[in-house]
Amino acid sequence: MKDIVPALSAIVRNQSQAIQELFQKNVVPSYGRFDIVLTRGEGAYAWDINGKRYLDFGGGIAVCGLGHAHPAITQALIDQSRTLVHISNLYYQEPQGRLAEQLVNLIGPGKIFFTNSGGEANEGLFKLTRKFGHDEGRYEILTAENSFHGRTLAAISATGQAKVKKGFEPAVPGFRHIPFNDLAAARAAISPATAAILIEGIQGEGGVTPATPEYLLGLRELCDEKRMLLLMDSVQCGHFRSGKFQSFQRILEGVPGGEKFSPDGISMAKALGGGFPIGAFWVREQYADLLSAGSHGSTYGGSPMACAVALKILEVIREEKLVENIREVGGYLKSEFQRLAGKYPKVISQVRGLGLMIGIELAEKIPAFAASDKSHSLQFVNLLHEAGMLAIPSGTQVIRILPAFNLRPAEAAEGVRIIESVVAKISP
Ligand SMILES: *Cc1c(COP(=O)(O)O)cnc(C)c1O
Repeated sequence: MKDIVPALSAIVRNQSQAIQELFQKNVVPSYGRFDIVLTRGEGAYAWDINGKRYLDFGGGIAVCGLGHAHPAITQALIDQSRTLVHISNLYYQEPQGRLAEQLVNLIGPGKIFFTNSGGEANEGLFKLTRKFGHDEGRYEILTAENSFHGRTLAAISATGQAKVKKGFEPAVPGFRHIPFNDLAAARAAISPATAAILIEGIQGEGGVTPATPEYLLGLRELCDEKRMLLLMDSVQCGHFRSGKFQSFQRILEGVPGGEKFSPDGISMAKALGGGFPIGAFWVREQYADLLSAGSHGSTYGGSPMACAVALKILEVIREEKLVENIREVGGYLKSEFQRLAGKYPKVISQVRGLGLMIGIELAEKIPAFAASDKSHSLQFVNLLHEAGMLAIPSGTQVIRILPAFNLRPAEAAEGVRIIESVVAKISP
């Protein structure tokens, strides 16, 4: 008996401490992790190893659109894994073709390339741009200050934040940054080598800042005039999070000329797979064959498994009318946060965002946070954890609210109560 009953592993024997030690010893310390070990989730909630429940308003950084452990995703994983998990892109398979068709229908005429992550989707847009400008010697991409485009070497070069580049110089050539929502600055920055402009419809890591309708329409005109590609990074703000499939569709709703707007390329990931790794980029019809056979690839990209999950997510979003829910619950949350900003102006300075992508900007100097050298956003998120909520800091001043698309009104109200309890506690 002794031989066949193995000793309990450290994970079972002890708890938080033992697991954190495994990380300290064996995992590259590139992340600043919170002092929480999560073990399971269900719907809008996640539980830690001590059994404490958290209302998850972070959604795994805008990923878990259907919440945790959605039975339809579980079933899709089971069904597809019984037939075909992976086959490579040397062959055809149905789920990838069907998913590509649905994404094209949601965006507009064009084609899709599948990846495994957002950074990899952006890499595809960078290569598309190089191909596009190659024969004219154009290669440069203008991106926005405070943008975020991923952690690969080219993606950190594209990202308009010094902190992600530090220590990794020299940068990949061909990226320059322009102030966001400033059309004149974009025009002034164009050089003979410029081939594209890449922006997020709503800057995520940069503090939840939506592009203005004038900026989007103006960039489209500018790119047409200068024969440049207009590229949008929809990794975080896309996939219905704003209340439309694409955030630019939401921003331009009802704006004259807005219905005709289209970028030339769009990167996607995060909520596309709801937690199963998948990314993609869409290329507008006239450029859709630029990346010809042999010019780009990915072993795993668009695997039957990943595509089956993504297809199921689209089906659930349609059948459960989650776009309406995103708009209703998102609108409720935003107005409640604005109410809190009015009631506690010394804690909350501004509320921004669309749908279920909301940023709560904290006041510059909150006396209750003065004693610690940790950023305001980090200290606030730590207090939310204590109060039973997960949310994501964005920069030093902003708290990001990125809940599941199927968040119920009662759960949203519970979230407002938790946030208000923390705000009231630190209010001077
Ligand atoms: C998360 C994110 C990325 C990077 O996606 P990964 O899947 O982490 O590579 C790129 N762009 C934006 C806007 C993001 O929010």
